[in-house]
Amino acid sequence: MADTLIDFDEVVATYDPALGLEVHVELNTNTKMFCGCPTTFGGEPNTQVCPTCLGLPGAMPVVNAKAVEAAIRIGLALNCDIAEWCRFARKNYFYPDMPKNFQTSQYDEPICFEGYLDVDVEGETFRVEIERAHMEEDTGKSTHIGGATGRIQGADHSLVDYNRAGIPLIEIVTKPILGAGEKAPLVARAYVAQLRDLIVALGVSDARMDQGSIRADVNLSLSPKGSGVLGTRTETKNVNSLRSVERAVRFEMSRDAAVLDAGGSILQETRHFHEADGTTSSGRPKSDAEDYRYFPEPDLVPVAPSREWVEELRGTLPENPTAKRARLQEEWGFSDLEMRDTVGAGALSLVEETVAAGASPQSARKWWLSDLARRANDAGVELAEVGVTPEQVAGVQRLVDAKTINDKLARQVFDGLIAGEGTPEEIVAARGLAVVSDDGALSAAVDKAIETNPDVADKIRDGKVAAAGALIGAVMKEMRGQADAGRVRELILEKLA
Ligand SMILES: [Zn+2]
Repeated sequence: MADTLIDFDEVVATYDPALGLEVHVELNTNTKMFCGCPTTFGGEPNTQVCPTCLGLPGAMPVVNAKAVEAAIRIGLALNCDIAEWCRFARKNYFYPDMPKNFQTSQYDEPICFEGYLDVDVEGETFRVEIERAHMEEDTGKSTHIGGATGRIQGADHSLVDYNRAGIPLIEIVTKPILGAGEKAPLVARAYVAQLRDLIVALGVSDARMDQGSIRADVNLSLSPKGSGVLGTRTETKNVNSLRSVERAVRFEMSRDAAVLDAGGSILQETRHFHEADGTTSSGRPKSDAEDYRYFPEPDLVPVAPSREWVEELRGTLPENPTAKRARLQEEWGFSDLEMRDTVGAGALSLVEETVAAGASPQSARKWWLSDLARRANDAGVELAEVGVTPEQVAGVQRLVDAKTINDKLARQVFDGLIAGEGTPEEIVAARGLAVVSDDGALSAAVDKAIETNPDVADKIRDGKVAAAGALIGAVMKEMRGQADAGRVRELILEKLA
């Protein structure tokens, strides 16, 4: 049954949204959280396992120091306090993808707490407060065979791969994000985007949302406008792209408002997000006090990072993202609006890498925010996954700068790059895209255009130089866009002088 939805403008006129984001970051350590198994992605199922991560009797876990280091660096970058002493706990539940029947996690003693991240939303700074960032381990992966949807319902049987079980995760939990109003979907997206940028800058994760190395759970509740009371929340699980984070918030706001407007009440539950149509559907009911029978993990010693070590790690932090944005804007000479659009499109690091590969900031911005953004949008993918790298964009721009191709032909080079036809130079050669600036060929085409457009030619002879555009257009058409437009214009004016 399709959900009833309320128009978004009406929702924000009647209700205040409260957001909460829980982001899981899979660390890129060489080994798992509590054993020496490798963490390489894509291995044959169940080849990266040992008695510890399979939870066999008698196996003893040991904390991965690199994972603790990464957790502290993430916490410091998020302006958190770092615990002087903390422990792991057992979160007990039975699920086939968790071989130990408990997850080793942190419960009431997280390693990082009380921080914040300032995010840019359409040129405004919005402070997202961080409640905690704690260490835990990932579960294995279930695959359900035989059903139409890939879900367990309707499946003939299920397979489980424990290669992922025990990979270190950091879970970053925000405090309720209030006061975002109509910008709530954008705030959610900007927070995850800027958190991802920070994780990339720290170098602690592959940070690939499409591969699940960053996963976001989106909590949302609505309360009557101005009431100040938090409503019942839903938790949309495992949203795996920035665009989906925004859409999930928007959809849940409209759906919740429809339920409340009809006098209903929101069920506290987890929900699934559906990429295809941007909707969510009911998962399982969830209470605040689910009985996981947490207790301190008896097989692990407490983690007590020395203050000297924490300060040493503080010294390894990358540039603060807000300061970095200001520096890049200055270096690139972007207007506030250009910078805001670049950040909003998730193109900041792409432009940065394109500039590093030799393109001018304005040309890098132009390609990422126009042609490539349109392609990403049409394909429903993130800009970074559009199929063209920053180095290739810089390569295309080099050909434009050298007047080998023009902007219009460059778009065909991007077609070729996405189709995997080779380097920009190879594509120009193979597709015969180079601009013709040889006077012989151009002159003949200009003569033909003058001959077939005598009235336009007369206007130009009478001094109406602006009319030259029509003749340039005719020549470009004749030469399938592959003429040097500047030279064509000169030839037209010389011939009709
Ligand atoms: Zn293992």
